[in-house]
Amino acid sequence: MNNSIDLLAIMAHPDDAELLCGGTLAVTADQGHRVGIVDLTRGELGSKGSAEIRAAEAQQAAEILGAASRETLGLPDGHLANTDAMRRLVVEAVRRHRPQTIVTHYVVGRHPDHRVASELVRDAAFLSGLKNYPADGAPFRPSKVIYTLSYREDHVKPTFVVNTTAGFERKLKAMAAFASQWDGDTKGGGEAYPTGQHLFDLVRTQDAHAGSRIRAAYGEPFWTPETMAVADVVGLGVHS
Ligand SMILES: [Zn+2]
Repeated sequence: MNNSIDLLAIMAHPDDAELLCGGTLAVTADQGHRVGIVDLTRGELGSKGSAEIRAAEAQQAAEILGAASRETLGLPDGHLANTDAMRRLVVEAVRRHRPQTIVTHYVVGRHPDHRVASELVRDAAFLSGLKNYPADGAPFRPSKVIYTLSYREDHVKPTFVVNTTAGFERKLKAMAAFASQWDGDTKGGGEAYPTGQHLFDLVRTQDAHAGSRIRAAYGEPFWTPETMAVADVVGLGVHS
């Protein structure tokens, strides 16, 4: 019996996973992979709702996306730091879930927690594989860490874009589950700068743009520092 997770999103705040890679989580679950979400904090600095309400909303959102598990590590919102104590908790989460692939924040972020989470998760993914690293759980190193580029404006070309067309409406539904956070007046959130549109319209525009880069209706962009391999150069997609 193998309860390990195939794709694990480890993000700073509840709702980050939905906003940044919710479509990818949904379509990956559709493919039969086990998808999980770890929220580093409870988002207790959020000005709306409460941590308890957000926790219930987060579970509902995870179900909509088809995630097999969701948990929070309860690290301090607004105070994430790449310290030994915080790394250890993330290492233990990695060892619990044993993910093949981890998705986390891009290395630069609008919110400082996002930037720190990126480094914290990358370091924990490596340390988790060290036999003598002092943390609970059996040593395990994921084979891949990928970084979400959703809504980022850095001059970084996505390493790849996931076609999220089949999961896009579920992404919006999962975002809507966070009713205490996003109401009819919400114009921006997380990495998405406000444009005057409602956040959901903004997400539709941005995800449609990402999708257009691979000739799909909707997509989510990702970056990896490693180069992607091609097995068959004649079978390359995305029409020139
Ligand atoms: Zn966040």
